[in-house]
Amino acid sequence: MSEPIKDLSKLCIHTITTKPWKLEKALEKYAEHGVRGVSVWQNVVEEYGATKVGEMIASYPIDVVSYVRGGFFPSHSQAERAKAIDHNKKLIEEAAAINSPQLVLVVGADPKQSMQTSRIQIQDGIEALIPFASEMGVQLTIEPLHPMYADTRSAINTLGQANTMAESINSEWVGIAVDVYHLWWDDNLETEIKRCGDNGNLYAYHICDWKVHPVDMLNDRGLMGEGCIDLSLIRSWVEAAGFEGYNEVEIFSNEYWAIDQTTFLEKIITNYKKYS
Ligand code: ZN
Repeated sequence: MSEPIKDLSKLCIHTITTKPWKLEKALEKYAEHGVRGVSVWQNVVEEYGATKVGEMIASYPIDVVSYVRGGFFPSHSQAERAKAIDHNKKLIEEAAAINSPQLVLVVGADPKQSMQTSRIQIQDGIEALIPFASEMGVQLTIEPLHPMYADTRSAINTLGQANTMAESINSEWVGIAVDVYHLWWDDNLETEIKRCGDNGNLYAYHICDWKVHPVDMLNDRGLMGEGCIDLSLIRSWVEAAGFEGYNEVEIFSNEYWAIDQTTFLEKIITNYKKYS
């Protein structure tokens, strides 16, 4: 078990978590409630432009923790793969412009080809971006996704696979995001988190909860404490692996997006302290 969370100094919220709020409102509310970090989703940058987003956040005592999300490298089409590299370069530029130290990668999968082929293309794609990422000072963070997304969203589904790829790439510009929603079920999780930390690849930690019998595969994530993930135990592994970064609350939820967002933010903070 980990030490109880006493304050909000490591609390980061993904903008998508409070999706109904525009960025101005989200920043104002986060700051008012003592939230110290924000992870910015691409829709926000599309709305305002990266430079403006960078300026808006810089006027608050809030760190940009990550920019979400690039990736989607694999395709049976060579032209599509080349397009993905260009698109990711644009996202790396945007990450730099909003002062984000990292771009999170949902690496992609193409159901028209084997998982193995997709994985090779993912590694090729990430390696092709490293020179540009290092030039821009933006780290690339591989996020393994739950196997229910293996068809189109991610051919990397376990932390073990992500570790193997990051170790093979072996660059300070490439690491991994551990998201409890995707990885909580894995019986090798403790070992793989340790491996990730030992190799210097643990770049991000995302939290929410897995509601029993979710009604939607994407947009029914639970608030911490609402489901079956032992968050305190997983955080103890993450911290034992040397991670000192933010605990990033990332919740996609039709249910919570429908309620008053200030009430939701207050619930996030209460449950963060109690259950994370
Ligand atoms: Zn995540």
